[in-house]
Amino acid sequence: MIDVHIHVAPPQLPGAGSLSPVLRQSVESVAQLVRSEMSMAGITRAFAMGEWTITPDNSLGVNRTLEIAALVPGLAAIGVMDPTKDLADTEHFSHVEALVRSRRVVGLKGYLGYLHFAPTHPSYRRYYEIAAQFQIPVTFHTGDTYSPYAKLKYAHPLGIDDVAVDHPETRFIIAHIGNPWTIDAAEVIYKNVNVWGELSGLFVGEAIDFEAEEHRDTMADVAERIRKAFFYAERPNRFLYGSDWPLVPMLAYRDFIASIVPAKAHEQLFSENAARLFRVT
Ligand SMILES: [Zn+2]
Repeated sequence: MIDVHIHVAPPQLPGAGSLSPVLRQSVESVAQLVRSEMSMAGITRAFAMGEWTITPDNSLGVNRTLEIAALVPGLAAIGVMDPTKDLADTEHFSHVEALVRSRRVVGLKGYLGYLHFAPTHPSYRRYYEIAAQFQIPVTFHTGDTYSPYAKLKYAHPLGIDDVAVDHPETRFIIAHIGNPWTIDAAEVIYKNVNVWGELSGLFVGEAIDFEAEEHRDTMADVAERIRKAFFYAERPNRFLYGSDWPLVPMLAYRDFIASIVPAKAHEQLFSENAARLFRVT
């Protein structure tokens, strides 16, 4: 089973907090926690986002993520794209390319909404080219944000349609399936052969919250919207499983999503689609 969206380092986005105090612990403790969560949930591979702390010696914000990944079998890093970088900064982009070429970074991530840049902003173009050249996907945060400083207009999944058309060689992932704009995201997936949807972070809480009576209606509503989006898109081969750990326990979230998506699509959702897109076995 592959989880395409977890965090092992705080994302360091404007106004967004650290996601969980767990991520401030030592590299060794985080690694131990991730290993135990993965093994309890039967996750054999997980892809962890970097931080938006881009410096000359951390060009994709993955230094800490890579340190942790070295201690967790099956864990790999996803680099963070920085749209404030000048396209003429060839040194930056050659570092990015080197990381991607080395396969230490298996995907790129952009934070729509948190950063006030649309996916069509020219600053992202070079990243799309690198992603296409090395056949790694570009994930975009879409939908609701955890920050009052975020601007939602940048986080709508329709923005992905724009770049999917203009960059047909690049593969894009709509994180959180654009929640709450899940049908809009499904339409973008349905229409573009180079767009995938990902189901992480659609309900957030501790293990006990997944069982609590008070959350039953919310969870039923989320389940209904995921089901609708999944059917509307008619593309079971282009949906990916992700949890957004540590915002949720891996096991509880896996069971929640498994209870929503039809059993006949589980093999594709939980492993085949991600293995093909990220070119891992
Ligand atoms: Zn996340």
